[in-house]
Amino acid sequence: MKLMRFNGGRVGVVRGDRVVDATAASGVDPSYWPPVGMIRLIADFERCRAALDAVGGDGVPISSVTIETPVPWPNKLIAYPANYHDHAIEMNNTQYRASSRGFFLKSASSLSGVSDGIVLPEPLGREIHHEAELAVVIGKGGRFISRDDALSHIFGYSCLLDITVRGLEIERVTRKSYDTFTPVGPWLVTADEIPEPGKLDMKLWVNDELRQHANTAELVLDIAGQIELASAVMTLEPGDIIATGTCAGVGPIAAGDTVTIEIEHVGRMTVPVIQGEGGANIAMPAAGSAASG
Ligand code: MN
Repeated sequence: MKLMRFNGGRVGVVRGDRVVDATAASGVDPSYWPPVGMIRLIADFERCRAALDAVGGDGVPISSVTIETPVPWPNKLIAYPANYHDHAIEMNNTQYRASSRGFFLKSASSLSGVSDGIVLPEPLGREIHHEAELAVVIGKGGRFISRDDALSHIFGYSCLLDITVRGLEIERVTRKSYDTFTPVGPWLVTADEIPEPGKLDMKLWVNDELRQHANTAELVLDIAGQIELASAVMTLEPGDIIATGTCAGVGPIAAGDTVTIEIEHVGRMTVPVIQGEGGANIAMPAAGSAASG
């Protein structure tokens, strides 16, 4: 099943190029704050699944709705750095891999949907890069999850962009946590539709230019290993999102670009890059300011 959030927190089931409104069947109240309805649905999915399947109607074209990020308020947004050898090498990183250094966290408030776009901060005199990644969404939480059990804890998958201000001297969390710097979408695909998550082709284009192309078979620390490592440290919760790492080919984006990510059997989303205002700070001053030197 493909589940979408759209038009102000409504829950939809995707059928072909249309989305059928399944909000009532999902039990999610779109007006509820904080927006944790999708997490409750994920945690209770086996009980809700038949009702979602049974929702009728032709729905509306996906192209006619506002697509929102599927899980906007997760307990954790976990990310693995240096998890494809070719990307680590292009960053001149011979020192470590995800398997030796572990994960980091991005702010969950950086999550955004297709329709939000990627809103750039005011110019900082630094490159802002795209990173194409497979998102893993946890279904059944737990601590000390073994490799052998790990895949059974996955609810589903999505496409994820880990947008990053470059600059190793600045904390990674600061550079990666701007609002809209983690587009996820266009929907969640439940795990039963992805029998081999370790064999998914992944591509990213900026405008019409293919920039990244890899297969999840090339992950240094595979998906089961990522769940095992993270859950050794902390309790994973339903709805937690793991950004599994990016491959070679990262590069700059600019206002006016579109970024398209496509992952085999998962989906494809195209996100516009928009110039925003503000965002400079004492650690990352605006380009041309005295503080920027
Ligand atoms: Mn990344």
